[in-house]
Amino acid sequence: MADIGFIGLGNMGGPMAANLAKAGHAVTAFDISAEALESAREAGASTAKTVAETAAGREVVVTMLPAGAEVSEVYRGEGGVLSAAAPGTLFIDCSTIDVDTARAVAATAAEGGWALLDAPVSGGVAGAAAGTLTFMVGGEAEAVERGRTVLGDMGKAVIHAGASGAGQTAKVCNNLILAVSMIGVCEAFGMADRLGLERQTLFDIVSKATGQCWALTSYCPVPGPVPNAPSNRDYAPGFTAAMMLKDLRLAQSAAASAGAASPLGAEAAALYTLFCNAGFGADDFSGIMKMIGQGD
Ligand code: NAD
Repeated sequence: MADIGFIGLGNMGGPMAANLAKAGHAVTAFDISAEALESAREAGASTAKTVAETAAGREVVVTMLPAGAEVSEVYRGEGGVLSAAAPGTLFIDCSTIDVDTARAVAATAAEGGWALLDAPVSGGVAGAAAGTLTFMVGGEAEAVERGRTVLGDMGKAVIHAGASGAGQTAKVCNNLILAVSMIGVCEAFGMADRLGLERQTLFDIVSKATGQCWALTSYCPVPGPVPNAPSNRDYAPGFTAAMMLKDLRLAQSAAASAGAASPLGAEAAALYTLFCNAGFGADDFSGIMKMIGQGD
């Protein structure tokens, strides 16, 4: 069992740290929120007062923070992880952040002799709680192998995507596909409504035809066909529209920096911006049915 520092105990990090403690690791946790620290204590973790104290002397440090600015500050800022960690500590950043920051922070860690993996997740809050996340990991193969047990105690799959930044690249590609397919499914339901085709009938047909996709069959944006989808609870998240917009912006910036065309990603980002600006940022991202599909 490992001696682990865990920084960022929000909707995702809280249950992930709890699963590490449950698996028998010694977890020292830190967050700027007192409430999050209290929950971590209840879940069996010790708590620290600073980032440096969380990192000092650990075998592994896991971070699960909102975005690139926080990740950069927590690792490279004054009193940050890199100012305090012992030689040989493995760093695993599970946050979804921009590829450039992920690579830059890993490069700074490498100057000090440390390995830092970018290991964003798929599976959402439910997957974090159940310990069934999928990790897409960027970094050296040897470091990925060193991190495999710890990641395995928080998830069901650990996939080595390639060099530093490759995990974040896979994550933004995945969420680009998810957003575009969700919008397509919403358009189709809106069109079916207007043409008088029953929603359940459309679902039954398309789920067995070539339009089949996860947004339809696991996360259907209209109530009824998939009982545990957010559409059945007035689009309570789940995965918020604001988070999806953040990821679409990351995808657009990654595409721009690589010279890749992403016209549907740009359109999806514009539509989610309209949806969030209309006051629906805290709704599940499938709630865009209300705008795209002009549904009920
Ligand atoms: P969250 O806002 O609930 O949690 C982030 C936590 O980080 C908060 O508790 C906050 O207090 C803490 N924090 C911020 N700055 C800090 C600092 N300087 N030091 C210590 N703690 C600090 O967010 P979340 O939903 O847990 O998401 C975390 C990451 O996971 C994001 O990058 C998100 O895109 C990604 N993600 C989220 C989901 C989801 O469904 N929520 C799914 C996949 C990936």
